[in-house]
Amino acid sequence: MKPIQEVLIVGGGTAGWLTAAFLAKTLGTAAGGVKITLIESSEIGIIGVGEGTFPSIKGTLAAIGIDEACFIRACNATFKQGIRFDHWVRPPGTAGHDHYFHPFSAPSQRPGGPELLPYWLLGAARGNTAFAEAATLQKRVADASHGPKRFTDADFIGPLNYAYHFDAGRFAALLCEHGQSLGVQQLIGTVERVELAEDGAIGSVVTREHGSLTADLYIDCTGFRAALIGTALGSPFRNINDQLFVDRAVAVQVPYEGPDSQNHPIASYTISTAHEAGWTWDIGLQQRRGVGYVYSSRHTDDGRAEDVLRGYIGPAAETLSPRLLKLNVGYREVQWVKNCVAVGLSGGFLEPLESSGIGLIETAAYLVGFLFPADGNIAPAARQFNDQMKARYERIVDFVKMHYCLTQRSDTDFWRDNADPRSVPDSLREKLAMWRCRPPHRLDFVTDLEMYPPSSWQYVLHGMEFGCDISASRAAYPRIDDARKEFQMIRQLSEHALGDLPTHRALVERMCARA
Ligand code: FAD
Repeated sequence: MKPIQEVLIVGGGTAGWLTAAFLAKTLGTAAGGVKITLIESSEIGIIGVGEGTFPSIKGTLAAIGIDEACFIRACNATFKQGIRFDHWVRPPGTAGHDHYFHPFSAPSQRPGGPELLPYWLLGAARGNTAFAEAATLQKRVADASHGPKRFTDADFIGPLNYAYHFDAGRFAALLCEHGQSLGVQQLIGTVERVELAEDGAIGSVVTREHGSLTADLYIDCTGFRAALIGTALGSPFRNINDQLFVDRAVAVQVPYEGPDSQNHPIASYTISTAHEAGWTWDIGLQQRRGVGYVYSSRHTDDGRAEDVLRGYIGPAAETLSPRLLKLNVGYREVQWVKNCVAVGLSGGFLEPLESSGIGLIETAAYLVGFLFPADGNIAPAARQFNDQMKARYERIVDFVKMHYCLTQRSDTDFWRDNADPRSVPDSLREKLAMWRCRPPHRLDFVTDLEMYPPSSWQYVLHGMEFGCDISASRAAYPRIDDARKEFQMIRQLSEHALGDLPTHRALVERMCARA
């Protein structure tokens, strides 16, 4: 076994540079440390559309040493407090709630206070207030276009939990600059061929610009091309299009309009709107929105999809030219093969409904960094990496599918097919069956394998109006008066929070000025 002294990352998108920065920080690149080189092609662009994140990104930015204000300024970033789902339960024009919210703050629970979800199910909250609204201040705050933190709060911390929206191209550029400052060597060049060694591992990658390059560990961050893990090593791709149907996207950048566009309020959540054969994302950045329609090519065609996108955006779309993307939906069950590990789209892609893409990159980078087999004994680290990534993917598929299969929509084949139990993974069916008579509990989840905390499952489950009847165990919930007071207090606190927290735009501008 040869110790791992040289790592070669192929690909310079979010996956490549985030992994490079994380490894440089955790492994150290000073003399005696690991030599990390990243090669990226000037001919093949980055995908450039991952603009929504999950709160884990704060820990990652802190871990690699990026200052929050510099990040906000450099990446045209804004604060994301959750996702608003419009028309996922029922189509437009039908009676009932037309949207629900998945906030990033967990339900308020004071030490010793009652757990709120069971009492919400028992009717302790006022009227028919949705669970996410009854249990946190966040919806109230985000609906009023206020930010999740005050000017004076420390980096990555605020009274409310949050992630970011940002410009993906600018994020990759910031990470590239930062990675190099941490000692990562950048090469510009295109890998044209991969040479395999006798044992089937990668022997070298051959580039036009730099000839043959060798390393002890190769990290494949070549995006959907998967040049190393797929083309060269043939690790099978598990297509899950029979469970998650969307496989294409049309995307466009929409400038804020009007004379007052620079003061336009910025939405502090992603707006995800369900349509006939998929859904649109709508993300507010500082100077523009990023909008895209992700859809199923089995249920609509590209022309109609572009019409739906244009219809959603309105007149502002008239002069814009959307970009079409074809997506491989699924993942490789084995993402680390011999001396090559895949991070990012080369390992897999699940639709961006809950921003799992960058979250999975963060996880993969942590795992490579912390399992790093410095002595060259790769096989056990690879096994652990593969087990954990596969388990994560499976759980994310369940979580994303839950948004679809609980719909009451039956207006198109897309929604009817999504509610068909044959398209629902057994693991999700089992969870949903248990939750018919009790709320999800943290014991339902294996923390280290989950991207989404139990509260996220609860918000989506009950946002989708899932029926859960806990009347048979009513005796287990005697604190209904305490719970009523708790819900009332949350309402009062949200009034106070509106006075305490700045508007979202003011917060973003102040942070940019500080950078
Ligand atoms: P890419 O960005 O494609 O980068 C590939 C890199 O490899 C490039 O630098 C390229 O030059 C290089 N390369 C390729 N081949 C070679 C070669 N032969 N030689 C040298 N270099 C090579 N994720 C989220 O978390 N949130 C979202 O909101 C979100 N939205 C998305 C929307 C859509 C429509 C899509 C498709 C994805 C979305 N994602 C989202 C996923 C996210 O975009 C990706 O996970 C993320 O950008 C990482 O991409 P990547 O770095 O793996 O690949």
